Amino acid sequence: MECISNQELEQLIDEVRPYSQYGKLVDYIPALKEENSEDLSVSIFHVNGTFFYAGDYLKKFTLQSISKVITLALVLIQNGEEAVFERVGMEPTGDPFNSIAKLETLKPAKPLNPMINAGALAVTNMIQGKDVDEKWDRLLSFVRELVNDDQVSYNERVAKSEYDTANLNRALCYFMKQHEVIEGNIEDLLFLYTKQCAIEMNCSDLARIGAVFAANGVDPVTGRVLIPSHIARICKTFMVTCGMYNASGEFAIKVGIPAKSGVSGGIMGAVPHKCGIGIFGPALDEKGNSVAGVKLLEKMSQIYGWSIF
Ligand code: GLU
Repeated sequence: MECISNQELEQLIDEVRPYSQYGKLVDYIPALKEENSEDLSVSIFHVNGTFFYAGDYLKKFTLQSISKVITLALVLIQNGEEAVFERVGMEPTGDPFNSIAKLETLKPAKPLNPMINAGALAVTNMIQGKDVDEKWDRLLSFVRELVNDDQVSYNERVAKSEYDTANLNRALCYFMKQHEVIEGNIEDLLFLYTKQCAIEMNCSDLARIGAVFAANGVDPVTGRVLIPSHIARICKTFMVTCGMYNASGEFAIKVGIPAKSGVSGGIMGAVPHKCGIGIFGPALDEKGNSVAGVKLLEKMSQIYGWSIF
């Protein structure tokens, strides 16, 4: 079954909106504390090009960890699988996304996967370009292609707010530099990473990116191949095993689709061969996932029969 109207989605978000009261805004990135915890919006973009939305679907939010999937796709395109997986692993972790614990106990000190902060920083470090500006231009052009909109950009205030306070990520970088997982200037890397996390769009744009992954890397509207299918497959697999932080197992059982969330309250979903989903609901549970967003996905997955398992 497919979603067939905006009213249908409006009704679903009205049902799950009350769950926002059980969540909290993220507090370690100061600029994100100013969001409205009751916001909730959703968009579904079918691979046949039709799309639906509900809530304040034009409201922009920053991607935060959702950007990690996009950067991973870019870096795999630029460097190939072998070079990337020499520096970052493929295994899920039961630890929080910003944990340093496993880096110290694992030998060699290679981050377990590209969805935790350590792994994502190592991936961003592999974006090709002669300097930070060129690397950023490449990443932004790639995002703009995926959304099919050259106006997409980043939120400078959120990027600066994170950069100024990113001491835990700084610590991860210095640790990895010492162990030769990353190289180059750490402040440049953090500057690039915090801009990447602050890339901003609305839930419809995000659903469109999800639809590209759902269609194995093909733009559902233009038919252009934006991501080679084997790379889209790798990204979706990471979304299943580690996309919803250390709640990925429960999410696989209750929802059963590749998805990635971010601490801004965004979630990108990709239902293979069917549709992409973009959600924004900034009230988070203790693991860092949007409370109402996850509830909404549970309901939609049941109604529309999305689980891939
Ligand atoms: N920019 C955030 C950080 O590195 C992203 C975390 C997230 O969304 O999980 O802490």
